[in-house]
Amino acid sequence: MKVFTLASELKSIQQENPTQKIAFIPTMGALHQGHLSLVRASQQEDCLTVVSIFVNPLQFKNPLDLDKYPRTLDADLQELANVGTDIVFTPTVEEMYPPQVENVVVDLGSLDEKFEGAFRPGHFHGVVQVVYRLFKYVQPQVVYFGEKDLQQCLVIEQLIQQVFPTIQMRRIATMRESSGLAMSSRNVRLSDEGRKTAPALYQSLLQIIENRKSLCSAVATETERLTQLGFDVEYLSCVSLPYLDDVPCDFFASIIDDSPRPKCAVLVAASLDGVRLIDNQVF
Ligand code: AMP
Repeated sequence: MKVFTLASELKSIQQENPTQKIAFIPTMGALHQGHLSLVRASQQEDCLTVVSIFVNPLQFKNPLDLDKYPRTLDADLQELANVGTDIVFTPTVEEMYPPQVENVVVDLGSLDEKFEGAFRPGHFHGVVQVVYRLFKYVQPQVVYFGEKDLQQCLVIEQLIQQVFPTIQMRRIATMRESSGLAMSSRNVRLSDEGRKTAPALYQSLLQIIENRKSLCSAVATETERLTQLGFDVEYLSCVSLPYLDDVPCDFFASIIDDSPRPKCAVLVAASLDGVRLIDNQVF
């Protein structure tokens, strides 16, 4: 496994492997099995796998959150080598944001104003800028993103459509602990008690889907339940894809099961022990 810190070093990948497909997986490190599932998925496609590790300051509104973001580079490199990653790119902030590079402009409609965009102003602007630069440097044919960050997937799909139309996007299902808790780099910050409570988030998503014929009352019941458990719920909503429009209360009651309908998702963001967790379930 090669480890590069300079964008210029990445040029050798294209030169040395002119016929091989390049698969790219951007991460912020503190890797867990969820991240590694993206690497494994890329290997099913017989690609040269490039993983980046870069904690992107531009996508954190709160400097404290950026400071607290776990950094475990040595362990990450070991894990990536174990699963057979070909190249790891670990640039510095200066390497990613040289003064002469201009920001890209992508029309996200209202996608970056809702949910994560509303609670983390500027977050998707930061995501788009860093992913744009990474795509330019790595020049992948295929990219892998986790459905755990569903809204991010939709934003990246817009970036690809508008700026990199030849790149293929693969969305990979969320890896969960056996408790149902979505794996996340932030889970290590939960207390023992928090670890026991946190799986309630996923249970709430499943309950809402189960009781979708009374959608608004199901959402209200689950919001109340999570609040009672000590979560500070930022949003818990049922939306249609790909624009994350709110689904009306009577939508599922008014359609016959299995009749064609847009894909929907239940989205949640809530803090527990001061740790902000997000999850979603598409159905
Ligand atoms: P991050 O390091 O949080 O930026 O995540 C890097 C990539 O891993 C993103 O595409 C995430 O959506 C994906 N990812 C994070 N957690 C999971 C998970 N539990 N299952 C699958 N993919 C994940």
